[in-house]
Amino acid sequence: MTEMKKFNVLVVDDEKEFREMTIKQLLHRGMDAEGAENGLIGLEMVEKGNFDVVLLDVKMPEMDGIEALRKIRQAKPLVEVVLLTGHASVNSGIEGMKLGAFDYLMKPMEFDELLDKLSDAFEKRRIQLEKIETAQIKKHMSLPS
Ligand SMILES: [Mg+2]
Repeated sequence: MTEMKKFNVLVVDDEKEFREMTIKQLLHRGMDAEGAENGLIGLEMVEKGNFDVVLLDVKMPEMDGIEALRKIRQAKPLVEVVLLTGHASVNSGIEGMKLGAFDYLMKPMEFDELLDKLSDAFEKRRIQLEKIETAQIKKHMSLPS
């Protein structure tokens, strides 16, 4: 088994039990994890915080996951989002991917499946940030002195 890199996860889900259990398991695996009970709070936390990946439930009161996804993509385009759907909301998961979500997971799922998906999302973000950093260094080096 390859060693997993540590990253910051925000779990946005109105189901308290699922949210708290997932955070607990993520912390147990050495990740940083916090939770939000709806899309509005989640969006605010993404804007102010330093999250790598957002696990975002589709069906929530206040602001649903798709609306939150749109706003997160606007506010922090490099933060990766993994959507959570139920059987009845799989179409939202697919719609979300068209809007830039990394992927979706259908509840209920095994925690390891969840963690693998979040890790893949983080890896995409890590590579993207690395590319941007390299481009910035190159640009800086090519500037006339
Ligand atoms: Mg829900």
